[in-house]
Amino acid sequence: MSVIRFQALAQSAKRKPVDVSEDIKRSILFGENVFNENTMRQYLTKDAYKGVMSAIEHGTKIDRKIADQVSSSMKEWAMAKGVTHYTHWFQPLTGGTAEKHDAFFETIGNGMAIEKFGGDQLVQQEPDASSFPNGGIRNTFEARGYTAWDPTSPAFIYGTTLSIPTIFVAYTGEALDYKTPLLRALTAVDDASTAVCKYFDKNVKKVTASLGWEQEYFLIDKALANSRPDITLTGRTLLGHSPAKGQQLDDHYFGSIPSRALNYMRDLETECMLVGIPVKTRHNEVAPNQFELAPIYEECNLAVDHNSLLMDIMGKVASRHNLKVLLHEKPFAGVNGSGKHNNWSLSTDSGINLLAPGKTPMSNLQFLTFFINTIKAVHENEELVRAAVASANNDHRLGANEAPPAIISVFIGEQLTKVLAELEGVTNGKLSPEEKTDLKLNVVGKIPDVLLDNTDRNRTSPFAFTGNKFEFRAVGSFANCANPMTVLNTIVAKQLKDFKIEVDALIVAKDLKKDEAIFNVLREYIKATKNILFEGNGYGEAWEKEAKKRGLSNNKTTPEALKARVSKKSLALFEEMNVMSKVETEARYEIEVEDYTMRIQIESRVLGDIAGNHVVPTAVRYQNMLIKNVTGLKEIFGKEFNKHAGEQIKLIKLISEHIEAIHSKIDEMIDARKKANIIEDVEEKAAAYCSEVKPYFDEIRYHCDKLELMVDDELWPLTKYRELLFTR
Ligand code: ADP
Ligand code: MG
Repeated sequence: MSVIRFQALAQSAKRKPVDVSEDIKRSILFGENVFNENTMRQYLTKDAYKGVMSAIEHGTKIDRKIADQVSSSMKEWAMAKGVTHYTHWFQPLTGGTAEKHDAFFETIGNGMAIEKFGGDQLVQQEPDASSFPNGGIRNTFEARGYTAWDPTSPAFIYGTTLSIPTIFVAYTGEALDYKTPLLRALTAVDDASTAVCKYFDKNVKKVTASLGWEQEYFLIDKALANSRPDITLTGRTLLGHSPAKGQQLDDHYFGSIPSRALNYMRDLETECMLVGIPVKTRHNEVAPNQFELAPIYEECNLAVDHNSLLMDIMGKVASRHNLKVLLHEKPFAGVNGSGKHNNWSLSTDSGINLLAPGKTPMSNLQFLTFFINTIKAVHENEELVRAAVASANNDHRLGANEAPPAIISVFIGEQLTKVLAELEGVTNGKLSPEEKTDLKLNVVGKIPDVLLDNTDRNRTSPFAFTGNKFEFRAVGSFANCANPMTVLNTIVAKQLKDFKIEVDALIVAKDLKKDEAIFNVLREYIKATKNILFEGNGYGEAWEKEAKKRGLSNNKTTPEALKARVSKKSLALFEEMNVMSKVETEARYEIEVEDYTMRIQIESRVLGDIAGNHVVPTAVRYQNMLIKNVTGLKEIFGKEFNKHAGEQIKLIKLISEHIEAIHSKIDEMIDARKKANIIEDVEEKAAAYCSEVKPYFDEIRYHCDKLELMVDDELWPLTKYRELLFTR
């Protein structure tokens, strides 16, 4: 009998939901452990409070005196809550979060000690972070990396540690993390949007991007997950035959949440509340043991931090509940993968959502301006948008036979399609008074302020307008949202900047009125972007063919997709918008390409190991049992034995064939890996891993999964899909 699998099954069968404390009203818990505005008001002097608020709202610098006041108040507040350590919390390009805890504790001589946390320690640190990926930046420049306080994301307490959200940059200023370029992109989109808003409302001073992510994940019993080396080492199953029952019946989606999972969620949500993550929605997803959690949307930078923090907390809380969270985009073949829809919008400091229709023709023209410019931005940069969600994991969704596809298109819904068609007919140049009135009354004025049911029913579009926001659905469940959000905000910023130049030019050169000029530019945009709009079923061959005709890219693999990150156009774009220098963009590209290679390399090794050392020996054992059986039958029945042993003999042969196939494929895969490993160029190496190594995964898996169906269940060493997916 296979020891580990059956021990794990026995353990998981005994599990009971872990008790969690009574739910307390969310509004009481919310932000309890956050150094937020309310706490600052209580703890900071008036000057310090003003200083921090101005840094948050206007990006002003915080001087040393104020930093000292803030740090000592933070310490006082945190110590009252039992905190002993502080950390600069940052998001290096590994994808996770990083923290190095330092105690407040300091000795002052004479065997005495105090608790200290000064302004210097709040504002800047130099973590020994030489092992974080830097894409060559720090080798070329200066080895040191710094973390610096980001006052726009409030400090919080987790456990007994005060965590200060920070950026992570090289000594020479190059970004080494996700947050730095995001903050720059948010500034760019603020500047460009505010300038455009002034066409409609002179009083707008600031535009903020908002993000509401929806985190999908799988929950698996901890013992079962640990019994699978592939899950432990790669986050997904590399083998495993589909269970007789999968998700066909759709009986899990929105069904009643299993009680172990529910208690986990309640516990998780309490922790989220305390650190200020405004989680609101929880439900079962499509696949068995798949769930989703979504918050109320927030300012983009904060929302990104909260998602990173959430992913960390999810793992910790799961452990307490004897569960393992799988954030991988495709943990199980044959059932739905996990994504992280990024709902995105822009709103003004006067509280207007720029992507929601308004009540007046003018506010609707403003809405259409931002709506059409976003479509144009995606149209101009569809390959870069695709690149922003490219990863080894996410390739199992995009480009595989699952929605959304690798082709970037935009869904806008029936009503808005009609509006765009009308606007396309606007006269070139000056508009007659009749046309203006008609536009106001019958086109722009007729957009209802609530676009009901503006969602594509089959949810296959990677980028959909859903009534008052765009929903970027191609983002992977494991991804740091900063990357797609940096790209989206940058391309929209650039687009709005160009739009403003075009409109102003028409006003000056053609003596057009402001609204005439806007109508004229929008008309041309509508004409130019038609090929990216798509309302149909967004995956499968039919759409691939059609998309090809339309000239849309279909970059199915990460190495292919990532190239768009370093195209001349992208390098210039990031530079122009002050988001990333050429060096920074190229470094990031290199890190992402290498990350791809490493992930495929690890998967290949793990697969070789499991197939060769777990599956094959088990198959041999079972084959020996069959051989013994056949020999026995021969002893009893003599020449007649064939009549009774026919099936067994067939199986013996089949098993041999599969074993032989597995062995030869593993050998070939190892050879392919060796060849790839000596390639120096990172891009070529990734391409080799993609096209020469990875194809063996499916081939080896095929034979292993066949053996799983043949071999005695009692012998099979790997916890099966039905056990992983249906143990509650
Ligand atoms: P679903 O996509 O599952 O149908 P909803 O469309 O209701 O769910 O909302 C999904 C997410 O969209 C939520 O996390 C919500 O906070 C977010 N959201 C709503 N309005 C905005 C907005 N203006 N900007 C960004 N996110 C938003
Ligand atoms: Mg959604």
